[in-house]
Amino acid sequence: MSTFDIVVIGAGISGATLAERYATLGKKVLVLEKRDHIGGNCYDYYNEAGILVSKYGAHLFHTNYEDVWRYVNRFSHWYPHVHRVLARVDGLLVPIPVNIVTVNRIFKLNIQSQEAMQAFLDRVQVKNPQPRNGEEAALARVGHELYEKMFKHYTKKQWDKYPHELDASVLQRIPVRSNFDDRYFEDTYQALPLNGYTRLFAAMLDHPNITVRLNTDYFEVKETPEVRECQKLFYAGPIDRFFDYRYSLDCKLQWRSIRFEWQTLDQEYFQENSVVNYPDPTDGDFTRVVEYKHFTKRRNPRTTISREYTTDEGDPYYPVPNPQNEAICQRYREEADKLRNIYFVGRLANYKYFNMDQAFKNALDLFTSLEGPAAPEIT
Ligand code: UDP
Repeated sequence: MSTFDIVVIGAGISGATLAERYATLGKKVLVLEKRDHIGGNCYDYYNEAGILVSKYGAHLFHTNYEDVWRYVNRFSHWYPHVHRVLARVDGLLVPIPVNIVTVNRIFKLNIQSQEAMQAFLDRVQVKNPQPRNGEEAALARVGHELYEKMFKHYTKKQWDKYPHELDASVLQRIPVRSNFDDRYFEDTYQALPLNGYTRLFAAMLDHPNITVRLNTDYFEVKETPEVRECQKLFYAGPIDRFFDYRYSLDCKLQWRSIRFEWQTLDQEYFQENSVVNYPDPTDGDFTRVVEYKHFTKRRNPRTTISREYTTDEGDPYYPVPNPQNEAICQRYREEADKLRNIYFVGRLANYKYFNMDQAFKNALDLFTSLEGPAAPEIT
Protein backbone atom coordinates (compact mmCIF):
# COMPACT_ATOMS: atom_id res chain seq x y z
CA MET A 1 0.00 0.00 0.00
CA SER A 2 1.34 3.40 -0.96
CA THR A 3 1.59 6.06 1.75
CA PHE A 4 -0.23 8.47 -0.53
CA ASP A 5 -3.66 8.17 -2.12
CA ILE A 6 -3.18 11.06 -4.48
CA VAL A 7 -0.11 12.35 -6.29
CA VAL A 8 -0.19 15.84 -7.77
CA ILE A 9 2.48 17.04 -10.17
CA GLY A 10 2.94 20.80 -9.92
CA ALA A 11 2.21 23.23 -7.09
CA GLY A 12 0.56 25.96 -9.16
CA ILE A 13 -3.13 26.81 -9.28
CA SER A 14 -4.36 23.45 -10.57
CA GLY A 15 -2.10 21.30 -8.42
CA ALA A 16 -2.66 23.25 -5.21
CA THR A 17 -6.43 23.25 -5.73
CA LEU A 18 -6.62 19.49 -6.27
CA ALA A 19 -4.25 18.83 -3.39
CA GLU A 20 -6.32 20.99 -1.05
CA ARG A 21 -9.63 19.44 -2.14
CA TYR A 22 -8.42 15.86 -1.74
CA ALA A 23 -6.74 16.61 1.57
CA THR A 24 -10.02 18.05 2.84
CA LEU A 25 -11.73 14.86 1.71
CA GLY A 26 -9.36 12.96 3.99
CA LYS A 27 -6.96 11.66 1.35
CA LYS A 28 -3.20 11.65 1.80
CA VAL A 29 -1.71 13.82 -0.91
CA LEU A 30 1.83 14.08 -2.24
CA VAL A 31 2.66 17.18 -4.28
CA LEU A 32 5.78 17.02 -6.45
CA GLU A 33 7.18 20.32 -7.64
CA LYS A 34 10.18 20.62 -9.91
CA ARG A 35 10.96 24.20 -8.91
CA ASP A 36 12.28 25.29 -5.53
CA HIS A 37 9.04 27.03 -4.62
CA ILE A 38 5.26 26.62 -4.65
CA GLY A 39 2.78 28.80 -6.54
CA GLY A 40 3.69 27.97 -10.14
CA ASN A 41 3.94 31.08 -12.26
CA CYS A 42 2.01 33.06 -9.64
CA TYR A 43 5.01 32.86 -7.29
CA ASP A 44 5.88 36.23 -5.77
CA TYR A 45 8.36 37.40 -3.15
CA TYR A 46 9.74 40.54 -1.52
CA ASN A 47 12.95 41.55 -3.26
CA GLU A 48 16.01 43.23 -1.76
CA ALA A 49 14.28 46.63 -1.94
CA GLY A 50 11.29 45.29 0.01
CA ILE A 51 9.00 45.34 -3.01
CA LEU A 52 6.61 42.48 -3.76
CA VAL A 53 7.49 41.22 -7.25
CA SER A 54 6.25 38.29 -9.32
CA LYS A 55 9.08 36.14 -10.61
CA TYR A 56 7.14 35.06 -13.68
CA GLY A 57 5.24 38.24 -14.45
CA ALA A 58 2.26 40.08 -13.01
CA HIS A 59 -0.85 38.08 -12.19
CA LEU A 60 -4.14 39.91 -12.02
CA PHE A 61 -6.99 37.93 -10.61
CA HIS A 62 -10.44 38.54 -12.04
CA THR A 63 -13.51 36.33 -12.17
CA ASN A 64 -17.23 36.08 -12.62
CA TYR A 65 -17.31 32.59 -11.13
CA GLU A 66 -18.95 32.80 -7.72
CA ASP A 67 -17.57 29.43 -6.63
CA VAL A 68 -14.01 30.36 -7.58
CA TRP A 69 -14.28 33.68 -5.76
CA ARG A 70 -15.63 31.95 -2.65
CA TYR A 71 -12.88 29.35 -2.89
CA VAL A 72 -9.93 31.75 -3.12
CA ASN A 73 -11.32 33.79 -0.24
CA ARG A 74 -10.88 30.82 2.06
CA PHE A 75 -7.11 31.14 1.89
CA SER A 76 -6.40 34.87 1.85
CA HIS A 77 -7.89 38.27 2.36
CA TRP A 78 -8.15 40.07 -0.96
CA TYR A 79 -8.13 43.79 -1.69
CA PRO A 80 -9.91 45.28 -4.66
CA HIS A 81 -7.63 46.10 -7.55
CA VAL A 82 -9.03 47.20 -10.88
CA HIS A 83 -6.36 46.57 -13.47
CA ARG A 84 -5.66 49.18 -16.12
CA VAL A 85 -3.11 49.03 -18.91
CA LEU A 86 -1.56 51.82 -20.97
CA ALA A 87 0.07 51.33 -24.34
CA ARG A 88 2.72 53.56 -25.86
CA VAL A 89 1.48 54.53 -29.31
CA ASP A 90 3.07 57.28 -31.43
CA GLY A 91 4.97 58.35 -28.33
CA LEU A 92 1.75 58.80 -26.33
CA LEU A 93 0.37 56.69 -23.51
CA VAL A 94 -3.14 55.53 -24.33
CA PRO A 95 -5.51 53.17 -22.55
CA ILE A 96 -6.05 49.66 -23.84
CA PRO A 97 -8.71 48.17 -24.44
CA VAL A 98 -9.52 50.78 -27.05
CA ASN A 99 -12.13 53.19 -25.72
CA ILE A 100 -13.08 56.83 -26.34
CA VAL A 101 -9.95 58.19 -24.65
CA THR A 102 -7.70 55.95 -26.78
CA VAL A 103 -9.23 57.14 -30.02
CA ASN A 104 -9.30 60.81 -28.99
CA ARG A 105 -5.62 60.76 -28.03
CA ILE A 106 -4.34 58.91 -31.07
CA PHE A 107 -6.45 60.65 -33.70
CA LYS A 108 -6.68 64.05 -31.94
CA LEU A 109 -10.46 63.83 -31.89
CA ASN A 110 -12.96 65.06 -29.36
CA ILE A 111 -15.49 62.25 -29.19
CA GLN A 112 -17.66 62.66 -26.10
CA SER A 113 -20.57 60.28 -26.52
CA GLN A 114 -21.17 56.61 -27.03
CA GLU A 115 -23.08 57.36 -30.24
CA ALA A 116 -20.16 59.29 -31.72
CA MET A 117 -17.73 56.55 -30.73
CA GLN A 118 -19.99 53.91 -32.24
CA ALA A 119 -20.12 55.92 -35.45
CA PHE A 120 -16.31 56.08 -35.46
CA LEU A 121 -16.07 52.33 -34.94
CA ASP A 122 -18.67 51.63 -37.62
CA ARG A 123 -16.55 53.63 -40.03
CA VAL A 124 -13.26 51.86 -39.32
CA GLN A 125 -14.26 48.31 -38.42
CA VAL A 126 -13.87 45.60 -41.06
CA LYS A 127 -17.13 43.86 -40.26
CA ASN A 128 -16.79 40.13 -39.99
CA PRO A 129 -19.25 37.99 -38.04
CA GLN A 130 -16.94 34.97 -38.06
CA PRO A 131 -13.28 35.97 -38.02
CA ARG A 132 -11.07 33.05 -38.99
CA ASN A 133 -7.90 34.28 -37.33
CA GLY A 134 -6.46 36.93 -35.02
CA GLU A 135 -6.04 39.53 -37.73
CA GLU A 136 -9.63 39.30 -38.90
CA ALA A 137 -10.76 39.41 -35.26
CA ALA A 138 -8.79 42.57 -34.50
CA LEU A 139 -9.80 44.30 -37.75
CA ALA A 140 -13.45 43.56 -36.97
CA ARG A 141 -13.01 45.32 -33.65
CA VAL A 142 -10.75 48.28 -34.31
CA GLY A 143 -10.09 48.63 -38.06
CA HIS A 144 -6.78 48.92 -39.93
CA GLU A 145 -5.08 51.86 -38.31
CA LEU A 146 -5.50 50.85 -34.67
CA TYR A 147 -4.70 47.28 -35.63
CA GLU A 148 -1.34 48.39 -37.04
CA LYS A 149 -0.55 50.67 -34.13
CA MET A 150 -1.68 48.52 -31.23
CA PHE A 151 -2.05 44.86 -32.15
CA LYS A 152 -0.08 43.68 -35.15
CA HIS A 153 3.46 44.22 -33.92
CA TYR A 154 2.71 43.59 -30.25
CA THR A 155 1.36 40.20 -31.28
CA LYS A 156 4.47 39.51 -33.34
CA LYS A 157 6.64 40.36 -30.31
CA GLN A 158 4.51 38.24 -28.00
CA TRP A 159 4.03 35.17 -30.17
CA ASP A 160 6.64 35.52 -32.89
CA LYS A 161 3.69 35.17 -35.18
CA TYR A 162 1.50 37.75 -36.87
CA PRO A 163 -2.17 37.73 -35.86
CA HIS A 164 -3.24 35.95 -39.06
CA GLU A 165 -1.17 32.96 -37.87
CA LEU A 166 -3.11 32.70 -34.59
CA ASP A 167 -6.64 31.71 -33.65
CA ALA A 168 -9.18 34.53 -33.48
CA SER A 169 -9.63 33.77 -29.77
CA VAL A 170 -6.19 35.22 -28.92
CA LEU A 171 -7.03 38.72 -30.11
CA GLN A 172 -10.61 38.40 -28.94
CA ARG A 173 -9.34 38.46 -25.37
CA ILE A 174 -9.17 42.26 -25.74
CA PRO A 175 -12.55 43.94 -26.24
CA VAL A 176 -13.23 47.34 -27.80
CA ARG A 177 -15.47 49.79 -25.98
CA SER A 178 -17.66 52.61 -27.21
CA ASN A 179 -17.56 54.35 -23.80
CA PHE A 180 -14.91 55.68 -21.42
CA ASP A 181 -14.42 52.38 -19.57
CA ASP A 182 -10.66 51.84 -19.39
CA ARG A 183 -10.63 48.76 -17.14
CA TYR A 184 -8.64 45.89 -18.60
CA PHE A 185 -11.19 43.36 -17.34
CA GLU A 186 -14.93 43.66 -16.85
CA ASP A 187 -15.38 40.85 -14.34
CA THR A 188 -17.37 41.36 -11.15
CA TYR A 189 -14.50 40.36 -8.88
CA GLN A 190 -11.11 41.93 -9.48
CA ALA A 191 -8.71 41.70 -6.58
CA LEU A 192 -5.23 40.81 -5.33
CA PRO A 193 -4.34 38.62 -2.34
CA LEU A 194 -3.41 40.85 0.60
CA ASN A 195 -0.09 39.18 1.35
CA GLY A 196 0.73 38.00 -2.15
CA TYR A 197 0.10 34.84 -4.11
CA THR A 198 2.80 32.71 -2.51
CA ARG A 199 1.13 33.11 0.88
CA LEU A 200 -2.19 32.15 -0.70
CA PHE A 201 -0.70 28.92 -2.03
CA ALA A 202 1.04 28.24 1.28
CA ALA A 203 -2.34 28.48 2.99
CA MET A 204 -3.92 26.14 0.45
CA LEU A 205 -1.20 23.55 0.96
CA ASP A 206 -1.00 23.93 4.73
CA HIS A 207 -2.89 20.77 5.61
CA PRO A 208 -1.77 17.75 7.66
CA ASN A 209 -2.73 15.46 4.76
CA ILE A 210 -0.50 17.27 2.25
CA THR A 211 3.21 16.63 1.74
CA VAL A 212 4.98 18.97 -0.66
CA ARG A 213 8.32 17.97 -2.16
CA LEU A 214 10.12 20.81 -3.90
CA ASN A 215 13.04 20.36 -6.30
CA THR A 216 11.52 17.06 -7.36
CA ASP A 217 11.08 16.21 -10.99
CA TYR A 218 8.21 13.77 -11.42
CA PHE A 219 9.95 12.10 -14.35
CA GLU A 220 12.84 11.13 -12.09
CA VAL A 221 10.65 9.58 -9.40
CA LYS A 222 7.71 8.23 -11.35
CA GLU A 223 8.73 4.61 -10.91
CA THR A 224 9.05 4.84 -7.13
CA PRO A 225 6.34 2.84 -5.31
CA GLU A 226 4.80 5.86 -3.58
CA VAL A 227 4.17 7.50 -6.93
CA ARG A 228 3.35 4.42 -8.99
CA GLU A 229 0.93 2.94 -6.50
CA CYS A 230 -1.25 6.00 -5.84
CA GLN A 231 -4.97 5.84 -6.63
CA LYS A 232 -5.04 8.94 -8.76
CA LEU A 233 -2.39 11.12 -10.31
CA PHE A 234 -2.96 14.71 -11.42
CA TYR A 235 -0.45 16.10 -13.87
CA ALA A 236 -0.18 19.85 -14.38
CA GLY A 237 3.00 19.94 -16.50
CA PRO A 238 3.29 20.33 -20.26
CA ILE A 239 1.34 17.60 -22.06
CA ASP A 240 4.09 16.87 -24.62
CA ARG A 241 6.67 16.37 -21.85
CA PHE A 242 4.45 13.72 -20.26
CA PHE A 243 4.62 11.66 -23.43
CA ASP A 244 8.32 12.30 -23.87
CA TYR A 245 7.63 14.55 -26.88
CA ARG A 246 6.82 11.48 -28.91
CA TYR A 247 5.11 13.40 -31.69
CA SER A 248 7.61 16.20 -31.90
CA LEU A 249 9.66 14.46 -34.56
CA ASP A 250 6.90 15.26 -37.05
CA CYS A 251 6.21 18.66 -35.65
CA LYS A 252 6.94 20.23 -32.27
CA LEU A 253 4.17 21.55 -30.07
CA GLN A 254 4.96 25.24 -29.70
CA TRP A 255 5.18 27.11 -26.41
CA ARG A 256 6.15 30.66 -25.56
CA SER A 257 8.17 31.68 -22.56
CA ILE A 258 9.12 35.05 -21.08
CA ARG A 259 12.53 36.44 -20.27
CA PHE A 260 12.49 39.18 -17.64
CA GLU A 261 14.96 42.01 -17.39
CA TRP A 262 14.79 43.32 -13.83
CA GLN A 263 15.86 46.72 -12.60
CA THR A 264 15.56 48.35 -9.20
CA LEU A 265 15.84 52.11 -9.46
CA ASP A 266 16.59 54.80 -6.88
CA GLN A 267 13.48 56.75 -7.69
CA GLU A 268 9.96 56.61 -6.36
CA TYR A 269 8.21 55.72 -9.60
CA PHE A 270 9.31 54.82 -13.13
CA GLN A 271 6.00 55.02 -14.98
CA GLU A 272 2.50 56.23 -14.28
CA ASN A 273 0.85 52.82 -14.41
CA SER A 274 1.56 49.25 -13.30
CA VAL A 275 1.73 47.96 -16.87
CA VAL A 276 2.75 49.83 -19.99
CA ASN A 277 2.59 47.89 -23.26
CA TYR A 278 4.96 48.61 -26.13
CA PRO A 279 3.22 47.70 -29.38
CA ASP A 280 5.59 49.84 -31.47
CA PRO A 281 8.53 47.70 -32.71
CA THR A 282 10.80 50.77 -32.86
CA ASP A 283 10.48 51.16 -29.06
CA GLY A 284 12.29 47.85 -28.43
CA ASP A 285 11.72 44.10 -28.49
CA PHE A 286 10.04 43.96 -25.09
CA THR A 287 6.26 43.65 -24.98
CA ARG A 288 5.67 45.51 -21.75
CA VAL A 289 7.17 47.11 -18.67
CA VAL A 290 5.68 46.19 -15.31
CA GLU A 291 6.24 48.38 -12.26
CA TYR A 292 5.29 46.28 -9.26
CA LYS A 293 4.80 48.99 -6.64
CA HIS A 294 1.59 50.06 -8.31
CA PHE A 295 -0.04 46.81 -7.24
CA THR A 296 0.56 47.07 -3.50
CA LYS A 297 0.64 50.90 -3.39
CA ARG A 298 3.12 50.69 -0.49
CA ARG A 299 5.48 53.65 -0.13
CA ASN A 300 9.12 52.97 -0.90
CA PRO A 301 11.87 55.37 -2.04
CA ARG A 302 12.91 52.79 -4.66
CA THR A 303 11.02 50.97 -7.36
CA THR A 304 11.40 47.70 -9.28
CA ILE A 305 10.48 47.24 -12.91
CA SER A 306 10.73 44.35 -15.33
CA ARG A 307 10.86 44.44 -19.09
CA GLU A 308 9.26 41.34 -20.59
CA TYR A 309 10.62 39.67 -23.69
CA THR A 310 8.64 36.72 -24.99
CA THR A 311 10.86 33.92 -26.27
CA ASP A 312 10.82 30.34 -27.54
CA GLU A 313 13.36 29.19 -24.97
CA GLY A 314 12.74 28.64 -21.29
CA ASP A 315 9.90 27.25 -19.23
CA PRO A 316 6.68 26.96 -21.20
CA TYR A 317 4.21 29.70 -20.19
CA TYR A 318 1.85 30.11 -23.09
CA PRO A 319 0.34 27.56 -25.43
CA VAL A 320 0.24 29.00 -28.96
CA PRO A 321 -3.34 28.64 -30.14
CA ASN A 322 -3.55 27.90 -33.83
CA PRO A 323 -4.78 24.98 -35.96
CA GLN A 324 -1.34 23.39 -36.35
CA ASN A 325 -0.67 23.22 -32.60
CA GLU A 326 -4.23 22.12 -31.95
CA ALA A 327 -3.74 19.17 -34.32
CA ILE A 328 -0.51 18.10 -32.61
CA CYS A 329 -2.03 18.52 -29.19
CA GLN A 330 -4.99 16.43 -30.22
CA ARG A 331 -2.65 13.48 -30.73
CA TYR A 332 -1.33 13.89 -27.20
CA ARG A 333 -4.86 14.26 -25.84
CA GLU A 334 -5.82 10.96 -27.43
CA GLU A 335 -2.91 9.33 -25.59
CA ALA A 336 -3.96 11.04 -22.38
CA ASP A 337 -7.54 9.75 -22.71
CA LYS A 338 -6.28 6.17 -22.82
CA LEU A 339 -4.72 6.46 -19.36
CA ARG A 340 -6.63 5.36 -16.31
CA ASN A 341 -6.48 7.36 -13.09
CA ILE A 342 -4.18 9.97 -14.58
CA TYR A 343 -5.71 13.39 -15.11
CA PHE A 344 -4.33 16.34 -17.03
CA VAL A 345 -5.09 19.70 -15.40
CA GLY A 346 -4.30 23.32 -16.06
CA ARG A 347 -2.85 25.48 -18.79
CA LEU A 348 0.18 23.37 -19.61
CA ALA A 349 -1.44 19.94 -19.48
CA ASN A 350 -4.50 21.03 -21.44
CA TYR A 351 -2.58 23.31 -23.79
CA LYS A 352 -5.25 25.94 -23.15
CA TYR A 353 -4.76 29.65 -22.68
CA PHE A 354 -6.55 29.69 -19.30
CA ASN A 355 -6.84 32.80 -17.16
CA MET A 356 -6.16 32.24 -13.47
CA ASP A 357 -9.81 31.86 -12.56
CA GLN A 358 -10.34 29.37 -15.38
CA ALA A 359 -7.49 27.30 -13.96
CA PHE A 360 -9.15 27.29 -10.51
CA LYS A 361 -12.49 26.50 -12.11
CA ASN A 362 -11.09 23.68 -14.21
CA ALA A 363 -9.49 22.05 -11.16
CA LEU A 364 -12.57 22.49 -8.94
CA ASP A 365 -14.86 21.10 -11.62
CA LEU A 366 -12.59 18.14 -12.25
CA PHE A 367 -12.60 17.37 -8.55
CA THR A 368 -16.40 17.55 -8.39
CA SER A 369 -16.79 15.43 -11.50
CA LEU A 370 -14.55 12.73 -9.99
CA GLU A 371 -15.78 12.81 -6.43
CA GLY A 372 -19.38 13.88 -6.99
CA PRO A 373 -21.50 14.37 -3.91
CA ALA A 374 -18.59 13.37 -1.67
CA ALA A 375 -16.93 16.67 -2.56
CA PRO A 376 -16.93 19.04 0.42
CA GLU A 377 -19.03 22.14 -0.27
CA ILE A 378 -17.19 25.38 -0.83
CA THR A 379 -18.80 27.70 1.69
N1 UDP B 1 -2.46 42.35 -27.61
C1 UDP B 1 -1.95 43.31 -28.46
N2 UDP B 1 -1.60 44.52 -27.94
C2 UDP B 1 -1.69 44.80 -26.62
C3 UDP B 1 -2.21 43.82 -25.75
C4 UDP B 1 -2.58 42.60 -26.28
O1 UDP B 1 -1.81 43.07 -29.64
O2 UDP B 1 -1.31 45.93 -26.21
C5 UDP B 1 -2.85 41.04 -28.20
C6 UDP B 1 -1.70 40.02 -28.14
O3 UDP B 1 -1.79 39.17 -29.25
C7 UDP B 1 -2.01 39.27 -26.87
C8 UDP B 1 -3.52 39.19 -26.91
O4 UDP B 1 -3.91 40.46 -27.45
O5 UDP B 1 -1.44 38.00 -26.84
C9 UDP B 1 -4.16 38.95 -25.58
O6 UDP B 1 -3.69 39.89 -24.64
P1 UDP B 1 -3.72 39.60 -23.07
O7 UDP B 1 -3.36 40.84 -22.36
O8 UDP B 1 -5.00 38.94 -22.74
O9 UDP B 1 -2.53 38.56 -22.92
P2 UDP B 1 -1.89 37.99 -21.58
O10 UDP B 1 -0.63 38.77 -21.41
O11 UDP B 1 -2.87 38.16 -20.48
O12 UDP B 1 -1.63 36.56 -21.88
